Amino acid sequence: MGEHRPLFEFVDLQREEPEKQVIEVRKHEFAEIYRSFKQPGIKEQSSRCIACGNPYCQWKCPVHNYIPDWLSLAAEGKYIEAAELSHQTNSLPEVCGRVCPQDRLCEQACTLNNDFGAVTIGQVEKFITDNAFAQGWRPDVSKAKPQPYKVAVVGAGPAGLACADVLIRNGVQVTVFDRYPEIGGLLTFGIPEFKLEKQVMTKRREIFESMGIEFKLGVEIGRDLSFETLNQDYDKVFLGLGTYKTVAANLGEGVDQGVHKALDYLIANTCHLHDYPVETANYIDFKDQDVIVLGGGDTAMDCVRTAIRQGAKRVRCVYRKDQEAMPGSRKEFKHATEEGVEFVWHHQAESCLRDESGALTGLHCHNTADNSKATLECDAVIVAYGFRGEQPEWLKTSNVTFNQWQLVETSEHQGYRTQDKNIYAGGDMVRGADLVVTAIAEGRQAAESICRDLGVLV
Ligand SMILES: Cc1cc2nc3c(=O)[nH]c(=O)nc-3n(C[C@H](O)[C@H](O)[C@H](O)COP(=O)(O)OP(=O)(O)OC[C@H]3O[C@@H](n4cnc5c(N)ncnc54)[C@H](O)[C@@H]3O)c2cc1C
Ligand code: SF4
Repeated sequence: MGEHRPLFEFVDLQREEPEKQVIEVRKHEFAEIYRSFKQPGIKEQSSRCIACGNPYCQWKCPVHNYIPDWLSLAAEGKYIEAAELSHQTNSLPEVCGRVCPQDRLCEQACTLNNDFGAVTIGQVEKFITDNAFAQGWRPDVSKAKPQPYKVAVVGAGPAGLACADVLIRNGVQVTVFDRYPEIGGLLTFGIPEFKLEKQVMTKRREIFESMGIEFKLGVEIGRDLSFETLNQDYDKVFLGLGTYKTVAANLGEGVDQGVHKALDYLIANTCHLHDYPVETANYIDFKDQDVIVLGGGDTAMDCVRTAIRQGAKRVRCVYRKDQEAMPGSRKEFKHATEEGVEFVWHHQAESCLRDESGALTGLHCHNTADNSKATLECDAVIVAYGFRGEQPEWLKTSNVTFNQWQLVETSEHQGYRTQDKNIYAGGDMVRGADLVVTAIAEGRQAAESICRDLGVLV
């Protein structure tokens, strides 16, 4: 029997988040800004949930996490049971707890959101798995019946990892290939540490390896290993390659032009900080510089906050619409503002202003609110306008088809199977640049469909 808890706890007990690192310290370090909740806080915050008969939080979540159920377990301090339950629907709950835009998903949908403050679902989700791992808990796959099938997963981002997780839990042998030296895809190389520390993915790799997933890192399909070989050696292939083609601002992007691509900048910064032997050639330090970031999504927020931590003199985010229209998480906008980032609304960059030597000195902009022109002086520009799909050369000989946006065509009804009956795909390369949790949802669904097609019960 569970502990008795008052039904209307949420009236007296305010929504609370864990403390954040003080701004003067956090502006200078690449470390997660939230301190961990202490146990009484976790139990109290979890106990605010009223276990709605129709849990809107759960429906809004793309993987339909059993949120009220694991909140109830967390309220009783049963973190291992909560972690077991949380892993039934999500392959990376400790990651989602950290980076999901809960303010647009579960917490926005929470019944208590408008009048009392939503339950702090994300922070509890993160705590549950961190705590269970610290207690030595590991997912138990010993009861999975070994199957005679082998599946190759290309891409160790959230889509590929989620697919591998569901396959191994069903006894299917799985090998994950990635061109990078660590798993995670954008979780490791794109998203900066102030949102998600790298040790989270290292730990997750160890857990996956202990479950039996094989990783072949530093292997690029199409360069180090041909797709034909992969196709021959494995019964099925899942593709989770992501989208890496930058939407251009047409301002003459190029390092020597002073106009940088957001993802190149972020990846190089991570590789520089962690000595990863990849893509450090693009590394750039904005110390003492006046930086403008173009765009209003999560990538733009990560760039402005990275530039702040590098010691930039001034950092502005220039966006063509207003704050309401920004696609990025409100939470991240707030963090950026707290750290000193300035926002320039209703401005669209049109061309670069340069001195006689060709060096960048500013941007000519169009004010979309009053149709006027404006000039913003700066030393460097980062373009964060999003990403497009791209068809890899090595897939051109397969039956996999791409749509007009260069995204892989799959059928949701056929569980993310492509036009080639042995190849499945999911995540950003299918839906376009989106979210970690949607990539996880698609990877899991593709794995279920691979199992069904192989005749393995899910
Ligand atoms: C800067 C930034 C910040 C973001 N912040 C958030 C956030 O806060 N919250 C959120 O929910 N989402 C966020 N996103 C979006 C999220 O990261 C992506 O939607 C998600 O990672 C997509 O997962 P994926 O598995 O499809 O692709 P990816 O994460 O891109 O992984 C693809 C993997 O495939 C590998 N690969 C590609 N080609 C090959 C090949 N030929 N051979 C071998 N390996 C290959 C790549 O190396 C990579 O590891 C952010 C995105 C960016 C760019
Ligand atoms: S909507 Fe909010 S109160 Fe209702 S079950 Fe979900 S977390 Fe609990």
